[in-house]
Amino acid sequence: MLWDLYQQYRIGQLDRKLDRVQDASNQDSVARDALARLEEKLDRLALINRAMFELLRESAGMSEERLSAKVLEIDLRDGQADGKAAPEPKRCPKCEAMISPRFGRCLFCGYQDTAVASFT
Ligand SMILES: [Zn+2]
Repeated sequence: MLWDLYQQYRIGQLDRKLDRVQDASNQDSVARDALARLEEKLDRLALINRAMFELLRESAGMSEERLSAKVLEIDLRDGQADGKAAPEPKRCPKCEAMISPRFGRCLFCGYQDTAVASFT
């Protein structure tokens, strides 16, 4: 009797462990799918950027040097040459609350900041 209770206890422990392993496996699968989608989007964006640059080079005389200088100028707008363009927070023109560049709209009154939304 005591042995049976102990065995039931152990089976319950193993079932819970198995559930956790299956949950972790499912989360890994979801993360891998999300990563694959991000890589596809990144590849597509890189392709579009290259096409845009080549069109500008052919039609407007754009050069690698001018592009690099502009990238550095934009990178330094937040005071750090970190390879990222961090848009600055702005005040909402309707309610004066700070608008997070991350959301591109005022979380207090709903004002849509279209200038920020284009690059988020
Ligand atoms: Zn607002």
